[in-house]
Amino acid sequence: MKLILLGSGGWVPTPRRHTCSCLLATDTQLILIDSGSGLSRLAEYRELYDRCDTLNIIYTHYHLDHTAGLSYLPNWPQKKRLRIWGPGTAFYPHSCRDILSTLIAPPYFPRPLENFAEQVEIQDYTADGFAIDDLPVRVLPQQHSQPSCGLTFGAFLHYATDTLPLEATFQRAQETRLLLHECWSAPRLPSPGHSSAEELSELASRIPVPRMVLIHINPTWTEADEAEALQAFGGAPHVSIAQDGMEIELAG
Ligand SMILES: [Zn+2]
Ligand SMILES: [Zn+2]
Repeated sequence: MKLILLGSGGWVPTPRRHTCSCLLATDTQLILIDSGSGLSRLAEYRELYDRCDTLNIIYTHYHLDHTAGLSYLPNWPQKKRLRIWGPGTAFYPHSCRDILSTLIAPPYFPRPLENFAEQVEIQDYTADGFAIDDLPVRVLPQQHSQPSCGLTFGAFLHYATDTLPLEATFQRAQETRLLLHECWSAPRLPSPGHSSAEELSELASRIPVPRMVLIHINPTWTEADEAEALQAFGGAPHVSIAQDGMEIELAG
């Protein structure tokens, strides 16, 4: 299984970083986690896109920096099945289908979501998790300004964005090869619903994880800010900052 970071930034796209989206690709499966503006980079992976007959999209939550790119999908028309999972009535007053159908509808977008592929399936997930074919996906409710969920893909990856730092995240990530975790500031800040490098470092020292890559990077960060964030981890070699286009092999 290969992971490709399409968008490593949070909130505002910048020349260096699109907003949150990453691609999990196996020989037979294509899974997008969130569809921020990073989804525009799917054009650079057309070969991966073309070889799968089903595109799966999993949402952590519905803030626009994680969903706006869904409207780009008809740019790559294909006879495909589109399967979408998101947090639904277990977390929100509305289903995933209702939430996305409100976003992808006139006057915001001319085509309804049902026309994006030959077959479109939209499902709610609950805290009990679900499966994409034979890949189990576990769900971890997080703490954010609206409900957001951490997602564990088999024993490969735990994806945690738009959340306060949580012990449960690190405990779950210990069972995987890689933790992708949001980082919004280097020092601890009164920034509700997000995490700082300082807090993540403290958690990682108590609950070590094999590898951590920081995502949802603050769009105001300079290279000096990135260096400061990494310093919070004491230069630990297993911690790095995501860049758009970064590829990580999560061997099967
Ligand atoms: Zn976000
Ligand atoms: Zn958010």
